[in-house]
Amino acid sequence: MPGRPAPPAVLLTTAEALAAIRCDLRMYGPQLDEFCSLAGALCGLAARPAEQGGVPGLELAPGAGAARGRFVPWEIAARWLCRALTRSHPGPEALARLCALVFGQRAEALPAAPGEAPRIRLETGMDGFACTRCGRCCLDLDYHAECDAEDVALWRRLGREDILAWVGREQGPEGPVYRIWRRPGTPLYAERCPFLRRVPGDTAFVCTIHDVKPAICRSYPGLRKHALLTGCKGFPRG
Ligand code: SF4
Repeated sequence: MPGRPAPPAVLLTTAEALAAIRCDLRMYGPQLDEFCSLAGALCGLAARPAEQGGVPGLELAPGAGAARGRFVPWEIAARWLCRALTRSHPGPEALARLCALVFGQRAEALPAAPGEAPRIRLETGMDGFACTRCGRCCLDLDYHAECDAEDVALWRRLGREDILAWVGREQGPEGPVYRIWRRPGTPLYAERCPFLRRVPGDTAFVCTIHDVKPAICRSYPGLRKHALLTGCKGFPRG
């Protein structure tokens, strides 16, 4: 009898897992419960969600003799936790525990084969996902993340000047960095994807560059948490 299929998962190098956690800390605004848990896990500090002058943040447990703990606004807390994460050099097991805490999914460190780097297996929680083509992810581009050099190389090979015209190029410390989608001939970025079209007579949308769309679009939403926090409609409402 066939067993249950394994839940969908990704394999991350330790560098990728660290980058994913840092990205999570900066991307979603004040995730105070998560920040408090990380303050404990990374720094051994007790903290609780708090607010001061309308700004959400963390209140660190008071030191001896103090009535109240120090308040840390959430944006500062996010940066501080990113630095603490880098400084703590977590091994694969510790990193898997941090991934589970941050992404709310099962994570485990896989034993590394001789000569290979360790990997973290992170379940994505994407079982049950079905894209409704609502277009939410492309109608409100609140990111202009780097697109891969491989994407740009593919578009050049295919002569897709129509796509390349919308790619911004900046000089990064390690070479060129490409960003999407920059209005041709301007320094301004589009608020919605220029390659999205509404299906005639329907509420659904279609990507007109689906076969060659950038890796960042192909991988969206990737994780259930990312889907839910970015308004994706691809999970049944329960
Ligand atoms: S937001 Fe989610 S459901 Fe909507 S088009 Fe994008 S991936 Fe599909």
